[in-house]
Amino acid sequence: MSATLQLPPSKHSLSPPSPLVEERPTSQSNKADVLIVGAGILGCALAVTFARQGRSVVLLEKSLKEPDRIVGELLQPGGVQALKELGLRHCLEEIDAIPVKGFGVFYYDEKVEMPYTSESDSTDNPSLEGRSFHHGRFIRRLREACICEPNVSVVETTVTSTITSPTTKRILGVETMRPTEKPYNYYASLNVIADGYASKFRKQHHPHAVTTKSRFWGVELIDAELPFPLHGHVILGDGSPILLYQIGTHETRALIDVPANLASGSLAEGGIQSYLRTRVTPALPRSVQSSFTTALEKGKLRSMPNSFLPPSTNTTPGLVMLGDAMNMRHPLTGGGMTVAFNDVVLLRELLSPSIVPDLTDTSTVLKQMSRFHWRRKNLTGIINISAQGLYPLFAADGKRDSLAPSSSRSSTLIHHRNQIPTSALFKKAVSATSNSGAATLPV
Ligand SMILES: Cc1cc2nc3c(=O)[nH]c(=O)nc-3n(C[C@H](O)[C@H](O)[C@H](O)COP(=O)(O)OP(=O)(O)OC[C@H]3O[C@@H](n4cnc5c(N)ncnc54)[C@H](O)[C@@H]3O)c2cc1C
Repeated sequence: MSATLQLPPSKHSLSPPSPLVEERPTSQSNKADVLIVGAGILGCALAVTFARQGRSVVLLEKSLKEPDRIVGELLQPGGVQALKELGLRHCLEEIDAIPVKGFGVFYYDEKVEMPYTSESDSTDNPSLEGRSFHHGRFIRRLREACICEPNVSVVETTVTSTITSPTTKRILGVETMRPTEKPYNYYASLNVIADGYASKFRKQHHPHAVTTKSRFWGVELIDAELPFPLHGHVILGDGSPILLYQIGTHETRALIDVPANLASGSLAEGGIQSYLRTRVTPALPRSVQSSFTTALEKGKLRSMPNSFLPPSTNTTPGLVMLGDAMNMRHPLTGGGMTVAFNDVVLLRELLSPSIVPDLTDTSTVLKQMSRFHWRRKNLTGIINISAQGLYPLFAADGKRDSLAPSSSRSSTLIHHRNQIPTSALFKKAVSATSNSGAATLPV
């Protein structure tokens, strides 16, 4: 029995979205070599990769509609390279993606253009390019790539729990639920949890808790005039760090970091709208201010938590936790998708059929996942440390509300921030995300 799931055409679609064909479970197809929970950034790339190694894959996703989110919109050059290595570079085509050649950092009166730098020779490298885009369009392309793989079955369903063997404690599969239908079980030799930042399964299988010190508030500007075209923009000053980057020919994303419990963003002070209007607008480059004001008036403000979660080695037999479910860092340097794609590159090698012919061989899988944990630190450690280390410096650790005017500031953090050439710090951090496999600490 099979059914075709026709997705509604995308509002912004450039090429008509191809229908995602959903393979409905038959009595046989609820078993696979690999089961993946979540057809997001990591889940899609991993599904295609395993399938091309000859494994059968069931990819379970709660909604196959094109997502409309404010996350994952700038892929650093290291992520583009990893995508190419995975044979998925074409997913960046036909989505009106914008080339990103580096960053512009604004720090009070300082304004610096920083092209991407190659870690190996520390010189500016014009061939290193990132891409920025609408997240949903990119996800659509990745899901289409999954559908094109004969070894992948994509099913729209919500995973509700894992199924554990009462005797061996091994994870055997998952229970799923679709509206108006009875629960349905899937079974696999290896069960991958890639259900994102709010993972339902993290508590049971991950030793660390998530910490969140701030949120990014996002608005979409139309026809904004950016001072450095084809560059990401980072605006630092007395207020929250602000990111600006073009995500389409006419659209620019503005993300404003707002620390938890920021007094000037409180309801008593007029709320976030008022904070953005009165405190953030004047800090923006003049050429962007009117489109920012218009976007605020339109009122489509959204926010996401900026979370930190240290990675952990996986110890549950039959299960692997990956992506944001396993490890998160502040999105200031736009490293999350680069981490995810490079993790998949590494897993392609470490869990390849030549090393792990049988994925039910728990002891080999766990040994390889322990290797994965240490080997991924070469790149991921740098991205995580850069993002977490830069954030308190850039945000002045939420002390800004009590700061005197900049001329008389004495806050220790601000002092440190002024001691270190801020643009150089950011350049180091971003160059880490532009080099896959970089092995040196950037800061
Ligand atoms: C504000 C913000 C901005 C960011 N900007 C960038 C950026 O510019 N560049 C960058 O590289 N990174 C950025 N990131 C990080 C990046 O978005 C993530 O690291 C990346 O999306 C993680 O991929 P993932 O596959 O783990 O999760 P996701 O891409 O979130 O995928 C998870 C999938 O699981 C599905 N799912 C969830 N629960 C279930 C369930 N029970 N059953 C079935 N399916 C389920 C979801 O629907 C989703 O499709 C940003 C993060 C934030 C918070």
